[in-house]
Parts: sequence; C-alpha cells; structure tokens
Amino acid sequence: MYRKSEIRFAAEMTLGKLSKWLRILGFDTVYAENVTGEELIDTVKDRILLTRTKRIRNMKTTKERIFITSNQPLEQLREVVSALGIAKEDIRPFSRCIQCNASIRLVEKNAVRGKVPDYIWETRDTFHTCSHCRRIYWSGSHILRSRDIIKRLFS
Ligand SMILES: [Zn+2]
Repeated sequence: MYRKSEIRFAAEMTLGKLSKWLRILGFDTVYAENVTGEELIDTVKDRILLTRTKRIRNMKTTKERIFITSNQPLEQLREVVSALGIAKEDIRPFSRCIQCNASIRLVEKNAVRGKVPDYIWETRDTFHTCSHCRRIYWSGSHILRSRDIIKRLFS
C-alpha cells in the first residue's frame, strides 16, 4: 500500500480541469488533451486512472480506477478525495507546476528579475520556478482563492 501523499493519477482527456486541481493539491497527475482513457489503461502503470467512460468503469481489469460522475471540476475533485480518503495532511499544495506536472522549487528573487512584471518583482519576495517548463510562480490572489477552496474541501 502506498502513502496517500504519493498517490499518482492519470486522467483522461475530458478531465483537464480536475487534473489542474490535483496538481494544485500536489498530486502527480498526467493528462493530455488528446489521450483517451483506453489509451491510458495500457500505458500508465502505478497510476490511478480517472475516467468518465462507462466502458472503462465496466471493464474487467485490475487497473485501479475512479469513475467520475460530476461535470463540475470541484465536485470531481471531491469525488477523488472521498474515494481515496485523502486527508488534509496528505496534500502538498502549490508544490507542483499546474501546466506541466513537474515539481517547482524556490528560486532567488534576483533570478527572476525581468522575467516577471516589474510590479510583481517589486512587491513579492518569494518566487518558485518549474524545473521543467520554467514557468514562474509567485503568491497572488489566485493562490489565496485556491487556499480557500482547499480549506472548504477538507472542512
Ligand atoms: Zn512546468
């Protein structure tokens, strides 16, 4: 049995927003716009498959999967969290790139000068960067909003 914080997911192409939310919570989640659940069954090992495809739900396979019923991303997230009994202690929010799924790391403020808007550089002290796509992250209103949503998710 794996630790809950180490659960990894593979989401089929209809679950892009859910994937982003799982990455926000810190879960390793692969997703591609053109990859179906059927393709994922054979290609991803050691990942829980997230699917909305009834055919896959009914398939006779030992592949671990969660059948998502809601159309609404935050409700879908709730379905995953409750199916696996994920608790607040299991998550590592904002530790992973929302765009590409790689981990992000703290970077020196000086290293991002000129790469973020001047106003942001002058008013923020903490920056993170993605080890893969180099996207730069800083705290802002979207983080606060997400924190709020996460709080409600586990309350
Ligand atoms: Zn990235």
